[in-house]
Amino acid sequence: MEPDLNLLEYLTGKGVHHIEEVVRGAQHLPRTVVGVATHLLDMDGNVDLLTAKQQVTYEKFLKPLLIDVPCQGVSGPESCRGNGLIETEALIACYNSGEFRCRACRAALSAQGD
Ligand SMILES: [Zn+2]
Repeated sequence: MEPDLNLLEYLTGKGVHHIEEVVRGAQHLPRTVVGVATHLLDMDGNVDLLTAKQQVTYEKFLKPLLIDVPCQGVSGPESCRGNGLIETEALIACYNSGEFRCRACRAALSAQGD
């Protein structure tokens, strides 16, 4: 599955601190990981065009930010009203707000708030 290019672009630009956060404490340098992300963006998200080493970096640091990001649920991960994952198109908003919830959970929460 290829990453969403808008999301990839966000993570190499305005959202770069999210990459820096996941790299923190690892042996990789953030700029190495951001470099792989930028390279991937240049190749329209085609992971197959990365070198073997870059693919390892992608799998470890970038993919978890881009694909199958878990929903934190209405009140914890067990309480997700959807399939436990956040829709790709909703992820940039999640990174901006710091609230990682799928559409079903956001709808459930806003219904509660009314
Ligand atoms: Zn959910």
